Amino acid sequence: MSLISNNVCFNCENLTDSITCGKHDFNVNLDNYCDDHNYKKSLNKTSSCGNCIKFKSDNCPNPTYAAEKLLCFSWVANN
Ligand code: SF4
Ligand code: SF4
Repeated sequence: MSLISNNVCFNCENLTDSITCGKHDFNVNLDNYCDDHNYKKSLNKTSSCGNCIKFKSDNCPNPTYAAEKLLCFSWVANN
């Protein structure tokens, strides 16, 4: 058996922390998708603020609670 991934809102760069689509400005479910999907490396079991490129930067949308072992939907891999 081989595993495959789907392009859904969960791994789209337009998904915001409030589970809305930043491009279309409406609420979505994580398993929704549309033709404007734009892939970004999605969260995985090793994701955390500690390996997010936005950690301790002005680009972090949640600077007050960001910490090494926490996480949000704006996570972006730092490698
Ligand atoms: S652009 Fe489409 S796939 Fe991406 S978050 Fe918005 S609705 Fe979802
Ligand atoms: S709060 Fe979100 S954007 Fe900020 S460092 Fe953590 S994972 Fe990254």
